[in-house]
Amino acid sequence: MGNFKIALIPGDGIGPEIVNGAVIVLNKIAEKYNHEFDYSEVYMGGCAIDKFGTSLPQESINKCLASDSVLLGAVGGPKWDGVSAEIRPETGLLGIRKALGLYSNLRPSILKPQLADASPLKYEKIKDGLNVMVVRELTGGIYFGKKERDGDNWASDEEKYTYEEIERIARVAFNNAMLRNKRVVSVDKANVLESSRLWRKIVTDISKEYPDVTLSHMYVDNAAMQLAINPAQFDVILTSNIFGDILSDLSSAIAGSIGMLPSASLGASKRGMYEPIHGSAPDIAGMDMANPIATIISAAMMLDISFGLHDEAKAINNAVDKVLEEGFRTPDIMSDGMKKVGTKEMAALIAERI
Ligand code: NAD
Repeated sequence: MGNFKIALIPGDGIGPEIVNGAVIVLNKIAEKYNHEFDYSEVYMGGCAIDKFGTSLPQESINKCLASDSVLLGAVGGPKWDGVSAEIRPETGLLGIRKALGLYSNLRPSILKPQLADASPLKYEKIKDGLNVMVVRELTGGIYFGKKERDGDNWASDEEKYTYEEIERIARVAFNNAMLRNKRVVSVDKANVLESSRLWRKIVTDISKEYPDVTLSHMYVDNAAMQLAINPAQFDVILTSNIFGDILSDLSSAIAGSIGMLPSASLGASKRGMYEPIHGSAPDIAGMDMANPIATIISAAMMLDISFGLHDEAKAINNAVDKVLEEGFRTPDIMSDGMKKVGTKEMAALIAERI
């Protein structure tokens, strides 16, 4: 039996509906496996602007810091598009990541065989499903390097990585691979970039501490091509901030539906922030149409990575598979001959199958 404090950030738009769906599933896990999940609700985003005049009140940060992990729905919407940059919902999101020290971003692209129709790739390439984990370095590299500009004559952005930055993200990738199929492909551009040569050396050195994990290296141009022609070859992709930005979008697109894809942002501690990759979908908010599966799988990642509850995480993923096999679909993944259900029913069906 475990006791875990979970900070819930429902946010805006469909956020409250999908987080509610995940809580229904987490409650079933608590009951079945004899755990206690102690939830505290946190205001962030547009709803926090309406109530407190800022998207990230200090009290919200404190509640997240006092939790074992954070589960986020989504923030933002047209209502707050005109507010000043300092208090925008997206500023709150960057602020909470910074406050929690989340330097790595894990984005698994999971295409269930039952949803092969949703992928833009040909059926034979994805008929066995797809499960790629992109581990992206989130707070270093070219996005945070020195920026210089001389009018319209020239401009430069510096790609700089330190030993510590590479070492800690490499460990995240190897630790993840240990929970999966024990294969890491480190993606760089070491044939051209000095920072990539350092990246490759340090990743290789750290890999020696993980003898069960098979490490290989791939240039980023080849990695993009391989993702498009044979995505099933990948288990964990470890890469820098800019390459991860591009490759994680590519791998998400291959996996098809935005309502199915979870993510985790992690730092040095066990605490993480888990969220679907999609936004607040204002167009379908409050209509019981949102797919809660991305958020439910995000909650499963939280159990797996932050709480070490591997069997419980598997139970959630198996229940999702079962419901899809039985033909239940929210509108975004609906196809001929399937049974259409709403957000609440989808969550309840998944919980019943745990
Ligand atoms: P979006 O992801 O919210 O929606 C894009 C499309 O996908 C819409 O048609 C929507 O209905 C659909 N969709 C998204 N999630 C779905 C789900 N779970 N089930 C079914 N359909 C779903 O992107 P957007 O419309 O560009 O952005 C809307 C708002 O969300 C904006 O304010 C944006 O800034 C914000 N946003 C927030 C986050 C976050 O909180 N992490 C991320 C992205 C966008």
